[in-house]
Amino acid sequence: MAKGKIKVTTENIFPIIKKFLYSDHEIFLRELIANATDATKKLGALSSKGDFKGDAGDTTIEITVDKKAKTLTVKDRGVGMTEEEDKKYINQIAFSGAEEFVDKFKDQEDAAGIIGKFGLGFYSSFMVAERVEIITKSYLDETAVVWECDGSPEFSLKDHKKEDRGTEIVLHIAEDSTEFLEEARIKTLLDKYCKFMPVAIKFGQKSEWIDNKKGKKDKDGNVEKEEIKVDNIVNNPSPAWTKSPSSLKDEDYNNFYKELYPMNFEDPLFHIHLNVDYPFNLTGILYFPKISANMEVQKDKIKLFSKQVFITDSVEGIVPDFLTLLHGVIDSPDIPLNVSRSYLQADGAVKKIASHISKKVSDKLEELFKKDRADFESKWDDIKIFIEYGMLSDEKFAERAAKFALYKTTDGKYYTIEELTKKITPAQKDKDDKLVYLYTNDAEGQHSFVSAATAKGYEVMIMDTHLSAHLVGKLEQTQENSVFTRVDADTIDKLINKDETIPSKLSEKDEEKLKPVIEEVMSKEKFSVQFESMSETDQPMTIVQPEFMRRMKDMSAVGGGGMNMFGGAMPDTYNLVVNTNHPLISKILKEKDEKKQAEITKRAADLALLSQNMLKGEELTKFINQSIELI
Ligand code: ADP
Ligand code: MG
Repeated sequence: MAKGKIKVTTENIFPIIKKFLYSDHEIFLRELIANATDATKKLGALSSKGDFKGDAGDTTIEITVDKKAKTLTVKDRGVGMTEEEDKKYINQIAFSGAEEFVDKFKDQEDAAGIIGKFGLGFYSSFMVAERVEIITKSYLDETAVVWECDGSPEFSLKDHKKEDRGTEIVLHIAEDSTEFLEEARIKTLLDKYCKFMPVAIKFGQKSEWIDNKKGKKDKDGNVEKEEIKVDNIVNNPSPAWTKSPSSLKDEDYNNFYKELYPMNFEDPLFHIHLNVDYPFNLTGILYFPKISANMEVQKDKIKLFSKQVFITDSVEGIVPDFLTLLHGVIDSPDIPLNVSRSYLQADGAVKKIASHISKKVSDKLEELFKKDRADFESKWDDIKIFIEYGMLSDEKFAERAAKFALYKTTDGKYYTIEELTKKITPAQKDKDDKLVYLYTNDAEGQHSFVSAATAKGYEVMIMDTHLSAHLVGKLEQTQENSVFTRVDADTIDKLINKDETIPSKLSEKDEEKLKPVIEEVMSKEKFSVQFESMSETDQPMTIVQPEFMRRMKDMSAVGGGGMNMFGGAMPDTYNLVVNTNHPLISKILKEKDEKKQAEITKRAADLALLSQNMLKGEELTKFINQSIELI
């Protein structure tokens, strides 16, 4: 028997760690099982090199809880440790790692990911145990030993009669941590941290129903089932992302998606299998989820692993922001976990990882677009939120996405920006040779404008997501010599101003006479009256909201708390455009009876409001009632 003192200078290191890692106590289990898998894989490596010649036997790792004895045991059949190794790895490395850890990371919040990287893994067992035993027998044929310690720098090391190879870590659970003696709690933890660890892990048994052995049949002639107990293996040691993409079918990817998110019932739209080994090591599968319209897009669904050990589901800073909307897994031993998040974001290697992932995603989208355009189009409405977000937040992605980003027009067709530009160039250039892209953010509500535009042979893009306004701004910058105009920004003749003039039936004098009549029935603050010489068949009056005014208002609504330079909320301002060639306008002008004149003017204006969806409430009811009377 040996007794000794662990080389730690800070005598009270244990309480510090325990306090400081308070919220992350549960990770001790991950650390112990990760060590067990390491030891098991080491044995495999030795065996394939010929350094271990015996029979490895069943290497399943076993977790057991003994409520009476208040112990939790992690047992593996890996390489084990000799007495010397025990002294070296546990006493020196594990404990000095703990010390270094405390020194460096006292002030950091996200300690959970750091622990494993500091040889602190084993030490974390003292967060929940008042005493820990390591019973271990090396694959090198030496006597087994038992190491024991209560978290103080004092430890003991004795021979042990253990005969089979491997290590058993026995935690004597502390009074304040008895939750870790609850089967349900352990199950949850195993599911969270160990679901894809690379060695089979057993926790208790479970029932399975099989055909009974005697071949007994029920009255319908079916073989009766009988219950048997089988080992409950809690993990899948070879998850899809560790396999070669060529060995997997779509179905396998979908099945793995279900394994990752058992509560998600919809299949993903498609997946991207990541596989990099230079200049960093990274594997993973990303999924484009199907988002139902009424469901908030959830961030933080991607799980981060390091060699199949779950680390975190907050991948912020590691994958580009817009891709945090995707689902799936990323596994990389090269992501430095022993640093804080802010450091992580500035880290060169991590930046490379982020841009690599971004590139992979755009490559895949381009491939899908080229391979089967119809299929891509059918998925577009579901994926456009990711792509638009990406185009707005990641310049490189935006450049690549230009090849496959689609724009839908009101006739249901999809165009790339290049195709659309080509299509509209003949008809949609204005007098200054600027190309005018027309769009609607509400094809239903702006129906009269949309149909006027399409009747003229214009294409109208549907830009109706909450990112659209930003995207319009971005496209205006990238598309040379162009403007984007919402379809209700002006009357149809002026929407794309070609400087074609139609002679007007009204003189300037007539207009001067008519203006106050109209202003009398419409609020002057909200509507500015303008006269335009349009076709006789166009509406007598139209209400438009000039593009510039609308954008100003939208901007003041997002920034600046809805205030404009005058310090008040910016009002909506519209133009009431009067068609000087419409017979109704001439009629109003000629009407001698002032009361009647005001009445007709009001009706014409109401009609314009109606087609802009602006006639509401009491006004609308009045309008309808009066129309009925007229009939
Ligand atoms: P790390 O895993 O980062 O090396 P740990 O504190 O988790 O740090 O473990 C310290 C060392 O103790 C390991 O490197 C390993 O050599 C040894 N060890 C821990 N657990 C086992 C085990 N179950 N079997 C064999 N060796 C182990
Ligand atoms: Mg470890």
